[in-house]
Amino acid sequence: MKICIFGGSFNPPHLGHVLISMFVKEQFAFERFVIIPSYIPPHKENEKIATFEKRFEWLNRIFEDVSDIERRLGGKSYTLKTLRYIKDETPDSKLYLLIGEDSFHNLPTWYEYEKIFDLSDIIVYPRFCEKNYMNDLKITLKKYWQRIIFLDTPLIQISSTLIRERVKEGKDVSHMLPASILEDVINTYTER
Ligand code: ATP
Repeated sequence: MKICIFGGSFNPPHLGHVLISMFVKEQFAFERFVIIPSYIPPHKENEKIATFEKRFEWLNRIFEDVSDIERRLGGKSYTLKTLRYIKDETPDSKLYLLIGEDSFHNLPTWYEYEKIFDLSDIIVYPRFCEKNYMNDLKITLKKYWQRIIFLDTPLIQISSTLIRERVKEGKDVSHMLPASILEDVINTYTER
């Protein structure tokens, strides 16, 4: 069984995540496409994070298959631990980890990132970010380069950071969020 894992803080989930999922599902024949919100995102310590319950509820309104694995695992969320858990549950599966290019850029800073390749291939969705890193990364990840799939899909200029900032400034975010969560997201990030 081919399983695609799309993880993130989803603080909040946005139409970028929806579009990415659509493009990737269209391009690959996955038996399962699962969204996994981080319980405590290790890279986002300085940001205001909506509760896990809230982010999980929003995701369930948008996506079919949302997992609470990282809440069950507890503590800081590390992709390696999550992948191990899924692999233990479904040993015959082939795993694909879907990440945006900005996350890929930071991959060498992830917890025991090299071990991720023991469990999963990586699919990289293009994103606006500094491109100079690529040469260094090619050297760092040389052993694994064949296991990384770079998509040639449209760039999407939406981020959770931008949404949180725009909400704080009272600006419109209706073109960046699914209608089903729009009002609740605005209420959550509006500073009172
Ligand atoms: P933030 O602005 O808070 O960092 P984000 O918009 O990057 O959030 P995350 O929940 O961190 O959203 O994203 C989950 C995954 O989706 C990450 O791998 C991220 O790189 C990817 N992603 C999110 N938005 C985009 C986008 N517009 N284009 C490509 N990849 C994206």
